[in-house]
Amino acid sequence: EAPQSVALVLGVTGIVGNSLAQILPLSNTRGGPWKVYGVARRTQPSWNALNTVHYIQCDISDQNDAESKLSSLTDVTHVFYVCWARRPTEAQNCQVNGAMLRNVLRAVIPNAPNLRHVSLQTGTKHYLGPFELLGKIEVAHDPPFTEDLPRLDAPNFYYTQEDILFEEVRKKGLTLTWFVNRPHFIFGFSPYSLMNLVGTLCVYAAICKHEGVPLWFPGTKAVWECYNTASDADLIAEQHIWGAVDPRAKNEAFNCSNGDVFKWKHVWKVLAERFGIREYGFLEGEDLRLSEMMKEKGAEEIVKKNGLQRTKLEDVGDWWFADLILRMEAVLDSMNKAREHGFFGFRDSKKSFMNWIDKTKACKIVP
Ligand code: NDP
Repeated sequence: EAPQSVALVLGVTGIVGNSLAQILPLSNTRGGPWKVYGVARRTQPSWNALNTVHYIQCDISDQNDAESKLSSLTDVTHVFYVCWARRPTEAQNCQVNGAMLRNVLRAVIPNAPNLRHVSLQTGTKHYLGPFELLGKIEVAHDPPFTEDLPRLDAPNFYYTQEDILFEEVRKKGLTLTWFVNRPHFIFGFSPYSLMNLVGTLCVYAAICKHEGVPLWFPGTKAVWECYNTASDADLIAEQHIWGAVDPRAKNEAFNCSNGDVFKWKHVWKVLAERFGIREYGFLEGEDLRLSEMMKEKGAEEIVKKNGLQRTKLEDVGDWWFADLILRMEAVLDSMNKAREHGFFGFRDSKKSFMNWIDKTKACKIVP
């Protein structure tokens, strides 16, 4: 069957890219049948190769590489941009992430005559400000966040990317539409992700189990006890696809979270149980941080003993990210706009947490 839609996924091995790679080719996916091109720098890993994706190794931060490998994809109809680079300062983030997106759009838009839609993924930092300024911006927004809140007066690579998106799409005229997806922290699977909370917690739990020590919550008491919201990677992929096919979603930005709330003190048990750890919880009077607790750790023995995939500990344990997320309380976003526009997808966050733990185990990243 000839494809009706042709997707180009930038960051296809990332936490949402991997979900898009899995969901887009399914026979019942809206807008399909889809042909899928997927882009990342490293060679295609085995856990991604299960999908029917035309894999392209390309460094999109290199303008020449992007031009030479992406301008020939003349049948692309939809772009899904789920990719980013992390730099020490937000000024550098704006520079490099802006350039990456621009390189892609300038290689694809003029050369793909049937291109109809570009979907960009940013996130809740749209409302919070960049990592380096978290908690330091004087007039930050008060959650729950809605999409109509004005931009903060602070550098933010999400703003840079939106402006580049709007500018490049406008050049093409009305036939090309855009979509911005703003998830909260993501529950998903990818050993190649820069920010994978479930994977990171799984690695931490595997190390605790191996050492025979309790699974203490490496965050604050306030975060242990308060309401939280997460974004399931498959749900985000579904929202990207909804944005690509539903006219009510065109040229709009949408939050994307599970639509429920959970508490870490309730779901922590699940992690402990999945790793067979009997003693777990919040350790009173301590300020535990994974970046400190995991500093000297190695996982060679665990990998060997359990026949796991060879990964680098610093690739699968994003300690800095967990330390940030588990110290940030009561950040909630509103899903009302998405619902008002016709997207009713949701997830049970506890089940979502369990599913991604199981996927991480099934792919042999942890025992
Ligand atoms: P990931 O870090 O999970 O994945 C990044 C993907 O991009 C990988 O496939 C990576 O593979 C690829 N990639 C990175 N650099 C390049 C490059 N120069 N050229 C080609 N491919 C590249 O991405 P996320 O889904 O986490 O991030 C997408 C957006 O979502 C970002 O703006 C992020 O801030 C936002 N977000 C993420 C959250 C999360 O919890 N993860 C939460 C909220 C928002 P390779 O390294 O092999 O190139």
